[in-house]
Amino acid sequence: MTATLIDGKAFAAKVRGQVAEHVARLKQDHGITPGLAVVLVGEDPASQVYVRSKGKQTVEVGMNSFEHKLEADTSEADLLALIDQLNNDPAVHGILVQLPLPKHLDEDLVINSIAPEKDVDGFHISNVGLLGTGQKSMVPCTPLGCLMMLRDHHGSLSGMDAVVIGRSNIVGKPMAQLLLGDSCTVTIAHSRTKDLPDVVRRADIVVAAVGRPEMVPGDWIKEGATVIDVGINRIERDGKNVLVGDVDFASAAERAGAITPVPGGVGPMTIACLLANTVTACCRANNLAEPEGLTA
Ligand code: NDP
Repeated sequence: MTATLIDGKAFAAKVRGQVAEHVARLKQDHGITPGLAVVLVGEDPASQVYVRSKGKQTVEVGMNSFEHKLEADTSEADLLALIDQLNNDPAVHGILVQLPLPKHLDEDLVINSIAPEKDVDGFHISNVGLLGTGQKSMVPCTPLGCLMMLRDHHGSLSGMDAVVIGRSNIVGKPMAQLLLGDSCTVTIAHSRTKDLPDVVRRADIVVAAVGRPEMVPGDWIKEGATVIDVGINRIERDGKNVLVGDVDFASAAERAGAITPVPGGVGPMTIACLLANTVTACCRANNLAEPEGLTA
């Protein structure tokens, strides 16, 4: 392997450390403790693991964690009533509704009922619009984590050619907006893109957010490019269950200048950025200076 490994696990620990320092200062200087409310509807096993992990890390950085676990058959009216209560609770600075929601609940309606300034996932239509117009917003956690790692590795991203593979609302599109905001020349690729290998070969930065195991082989990667692999795919290999990304790590690492592994790359950054967004939301709510380096 010739590429530099971008260690998301270590980077996330650093971000959590910065968040914890800021939380301690908020408590000491202003008597304020940031609070994150996480709402889980139903018993999806993966969602339960995420929610537990979010709650644990929230407490570890010194913030208050409020967990609301609702039955799978909770009505939309009851869920909206809870969100309204959290919107009006001054101890809650961030609200996250764990997705996916059970089928009978309208995800867009639910997400858009969260007060935009408490929408620490950055999915509310107002935050999407603010990000798209280059204004201060809550930025979706996974793309924010990718941006932080890219800025840390490169310093300025200005003028670089970037390709984002995937156009989802939670990863691909906001990632592209963030790279554009940092003055990259951005291409968004998707399942209908013609000559994807050619498009990827032109890029100085490749962000893969597809959900297809090892779809991007090393020979698509330009020599020296930076590869950020968002994909989390569980596959069976040699009789074992393993996690792999959307990029074929072994061959890509021979050509890339820098690359994130899976696991241990983008994954750990997502919750770290959720905590960062919560402390940012708390500072904004109290008209206090935001922590530096933790926002877009
Ligand atoms: P979605 O399924 O919502 O989007 C996938 C995107 O990939 C779509 O835009 C789709 O194109 C595109 N795509 C599918 N097949 C191809 C192909 N053959 N060539 C080019 N593009 C293709 O996924 P998400 O954005 O939600 O997630 C992407 C991956 O990132 C998943 O593995 C997910 O698990 C992971 N993830 C990781 C997170 C983390 O914390 N590290 C957080 C969130 C997601 P089209 O629009 O045309 O269908």
